[in-house]
Parts: sequence; C-alpha cells; structure tokens
Amino acid sequence: MASADYVIVGAGSAGCVLANRLTEDPAVRVVLVEAGGRDRHPNIKIPAAFANQFHTKFDWDFATEPEPHCHDRSLFIPRGKSLGGSSSMNAMLYVRGRPLDYDLWEREGAAGWSWDDVRPYFLKAEHNERGASEHHAVGGPLNVADERSPRPLTRRFLEAAERVGIPRVADYNGPEQDGASLVQVTQRNGRRWSAADAYLRPALSRPNLEVRTGAHVARVELDGDRAVGVVLRDRRGREELLRADREVLLSAGAIGSPQLLMLSGIGPADHLQGLDIEVAVDSPGVGANLQDHPYVVCVWESTAPESLYGADKPRPTLEWLLRRSGPLTSTIAEAFAFVRSRPGLPAADLQYHFAPAYFVDNGAEEYDGHAFTMGPTLISPKSRGEIRLASSDPTAKPRIRTNTLAEPEDLAALVTGVELAREIAATEPIASVRGREIYPGADVRDDADVEEFVRRRVDLLYHPSGTCRMGGEDAVLDPELRVRGLEGLRVIDASVFPVIPGGNTNAPTIMVAERAADLLKGRVPAPAASAGA
Ligand SMILES: Cc1cc2nc3c(=O)[nH]c(=O)nc-3n(C[C@H](O)[C@H](O)[C@H](O)COP(=O)(O)OP(=O)(O)OC[C@H]3O[C@@H](n4cnc5c(N)ncnc54)[C@H](O)[C@@H]3O)c2cc1C
Repeated sequence: MASADYVIVGAGSAGCVLANRLTEDPAVRVVLVEAGGRDRHPNIKIPAAFANQFHTKFDWDFATEPEPHCHDRSLFIPRGKSLGGSSSMNAMLYVRGRPLDYDLWEREGAAGWSWDDVRPYFLKAEHNERGASEHHAVGGPLNVADERSPRPLTRRFLEAAERVGIPRVADYNGPEQDGASLVQVTQRNGRRWSAADAYLRPALSRPNLEVRTGAHVARVELDGDRAVGVVLRDRRGREELLRADREVLLSAGAIGSPQLLMLSGIGPADHLQGLDIEVAVDSPGVGANLQDHPYVVCVWESTAPESLYGADKPRPTLEWLLRRSGPLTSTIAEAFAFVRSRPGLPAADLQYHFAPAYFVDNGAEEYDGHAFTMGPTLISPKSRGEIRLASSDPTAKPRIRTNTLAEPEDLAALVTGVELAREIAATEPIASVRGREIYPGADVRDDADVEEFVRRRVDLLYHPSGTCRMGGEDAVLDPELRVRGLEGLRVIDASVFPVIPGGNTNAPTIMVAERAADLLKGRVPAPAASAGA
C-alpha cells in the first residue's frame, strides 16, 4: 500500500495495539511503519536477557545531556527498536498504577481519562493467568503471569520487609498497592510476551494490515493544517511519501514522537526557527513535561548461593530451552515493595525493585559472585525535563535533559529509600545471608553522605513519559489525543501522559492505545472538554 486509511508510526507497545484494533474492521486499511527490524533474537525472548539488548541494534541508545543535579552525569535511556518496541526490551513487570494516578490525569484536563474511564481498558487488554476477579480479566491479548521460578533470596526479602512493617499484599494491582509482593509479568510459558506477541502477530494475516520494518520516518507531511502522510527516508537519503487518507498516528514513544513533531514544524517556534525548520504550529509543550522514575541501587554480597549468579550457564539455559523454567525466566526484579517515604502522602512514592542479582550501571557492571540489589525508585517525581532537537537531521539523536533531582523533595525521598533498604537488609531472614555492603558502601554514613551517593549513582528506570501531554490549556493534545492546531494527526503512546503513573509504564501505555482505538472507532462519547481542539 502506498496509501492507507491510517499510517501508524512505531510498532511499540501502543503501535501494536492500534494495528490490531483498527484492522478488526476489514474495510479499514492500515500501514504500520517501524524503524527497527524483527524481534526473533534470544535476548528478546529470554526474560533474564533483556539488558543484553542495551547498546545493540535493538536499542535507540539515547542518553541525557550532563544532568546538573547529578554531578553532570549523562543518564542512559534505552528504547526498544524492533517489532514490539520497548515492550520487546522491557523487564516485563506488569503494573497498572493507582486509581488516583488517573483521577489526577482528569483533574489535569484529560477529560475522559479518570480511573473509572480507563479501568475497562486495562481489563480489555488483560489475560491474567490467576483468573478473572473483580480486579482482573481473562481473554485479553496481554498475557499476565506469576514469575515461574523466583529465587529463594526474593522470599527472604519479602519476609524481612514484613518484619520492618511493610505488609504483604497479594495483588499490588488490586485494591491495595502499599506493601510487598512478588511481581506479575507479561510472559507466556516462561517467555516474553511483548505487544508484538499479544497484538501484532495475531493480526499479521489480515489483508488490510501492512507492516514495514526497517522504515525510518523522517517527518509528518502536512498540507496546510492537515497531516496527509509521513515521509520515509532510507540510508541513502531517498525519500518516500506514505499517504494517510484518514489520519497519521504517532506511536514513536516519548522520545521519538516529540522529535518527529518538531522535525515536522510542530513545537516551540523559537526553537524550530533556530534550526531553520519552518513553523507549522507553535506548540511550546512539545518535548516539555518529560518525566521518568529515578532509582538508586543498594547492593550486598550474598553468602547464600540463592541468586541469579550463573543463570547463563549451560544447565539453566537447557532448563529454559526444555522446560521454560528456571532462573532465565526471571525478570531480574522479582519482588516489589510500595512504601510512603513520609507520613501524610496520599499513596506510595517509593517502589522497591528487589533483584536477587548484582544489577549495577544498568546491568553493565559485572560481578563475580552471589549478590542482591534493592532499587528504591521514586514513582511520583516532581522534577520535569525536556527534549529538544540537536539538529534538523531526522537521524540525529535529540537533546534530552531530565533535570533529575532538581526538586529537593525528590532527593529527600530517595535518601529515605536508601535508609529503609539498609534497614530491610539488616533484618532476618535476609540479614544472615548478607555479606559486604557494596553500595552505598561502609563509608556512606550520614544523610549528607547518602545524598551525595544518590546524586552520584541515580539512574532512570526506562519510563520516559509526558512529552506530548494531553489535556490542560497549553497541552500539545486534546483529550482525544489530537494534535492541537492540526487535523488528521494524533499522538498515542507514553508521551501523552500528563503525569507519570505510580508504577511501570507498559500496561498504562497499552491502556492508552486500547482506549484511543475506541476513540478512533467512535465508540467512546466525546468528552465535553475536547470540543475546542
Ligand atoms: C529496558 C526497559 C525496561 C522496562 N521495563 C519495564 C517493565 O518492566 N514494566 C513496564 O511496565 N514498563 C517497562 N518499561 C517501559 C515500557 O516498556 C514503555 O513505557 C512502553 O513500552 C512505551 O511504549 P510506547 O508505545 O510509548 O513506545 P515504544 O514501545 O518504545 O515504541 C516506539 C516504537 O517507535 C519506533 N520508532 C521510533 N521512532 C521512529 C521513527 N522515526 N520511524 C519509525 N519508527 C520509529 C521504535 O523503534 C519503537 O518500536 C521498560 C522500558 C525499557 C526500555
């Protein structure tokens, strides 16, 4: 097809959902365009191998500019570049966030996105192997499972957490998030279950869907105030126009979508003029409002051989190949604890990721022995960053600044997070197998030391969001995700979140795309606030 009704840019978490749902109607023609290639590599399929994709051809391999509040360190931002996008690279942790996250979206101007509005779309997406209940559904495309083979160290963490006063919760996606629990994961039969597995593959045989891989979109083609297609550019610089008779849907992710808007002349006018890009719509919010979840690693040696150390050896590999069980089914983070860093907060602001493994420097730093890692993660950060173009070249990486730890509140919460991690590690039954504290380390003692440690070691948990936010007067998108000031163009991915939810962002992105598909089909009544788009 050189033209289609809808052209979707990006076969990631959101793009795969849209490709499936829109082609349910055989009369609707869709082309899905993906810059990356296929998703067959073992590092995609084997859960514990996800970090092996970093800095490879499956990764856009972004990084921030020197961060002023983190000692001018550049923070790593991996993004999936294959069918499935970041859902083919992520750690598979299935977390929805809290009802109050979505009620906040609505208060921020995203009419129609309150918890009551979005809950049915989480359920529509879900097939939970625990079965249907008040809070969960079966029959949806996204397979959600319990971890198959959690390490014994993980049970020790859960028991120690309970002894320091963090209650056990059976279902952090249920009525109560606060507490500690084993994770649920987007896997099926011990293998990653990406958005491509869940949504794209079942639709591939439909004649009204075309998928183009290895196709880099350079910009959106505009005719006056209407988007009429996208321009693809190959390695030699040759361009091809792909026409969209109804709409162009940008699902290129929270870095890619604002970048593409700006390359198409939609963004802050002064910034675009500075790069000699003709301004089509002056939209100062494009690329602004960047949010992510910062975390620090606290790591101890383990005197018990109960970790993921050696998971890549022949025996566990054979176990995974033959039985789809064993340590290679691990998502590295095997348990959570959601806690409040101080009294008076309406919900948990810290999410501990517990890994029965040495996970330092995004998995890049090697360690020869058993260890465990607690990653207190700030899930309601106040700091905001931005994305700007580095040049008008569509293949150039954009300039990213997150301003991580700019807000003192964010730093204070993470300092409390480190202190509580130490308390848990000093409590039985994990205390008796705790060896040397590797991070923060024995020389990090008082609050000032811990603050310094956090600034030196903080990283981002791979959840960039909010860079084309919906709702609100100066928002880029109206609540139906249409780009304000233009016709025929929507953004549908993690960039639309007005505020990052309190948990990992894959399930919320899939929910957004499920609801967006219904908006496109006219199945959702238009909320009053969207009328003046
Ligand atoms: C390492 C890692 C671990 C994570 N762990 C978890 C987790 O455990 N649980 C969780 O809930 N979330 C996790 N996340 C976050 C979650 O996966 C993302 O929030 C979610 O996948 C975002 O979906 P998206 O549709 O917005 O973008 P993506 O899934 O990133 O999709 C964007 C797609 O657009 C394509 N694209 C971009 N630019 C162009 C262009 N110019 N032309 C053509 N195609 C283009 C990309 O290649 C990509 O396929 C993790 C993410 C990463 C990277």
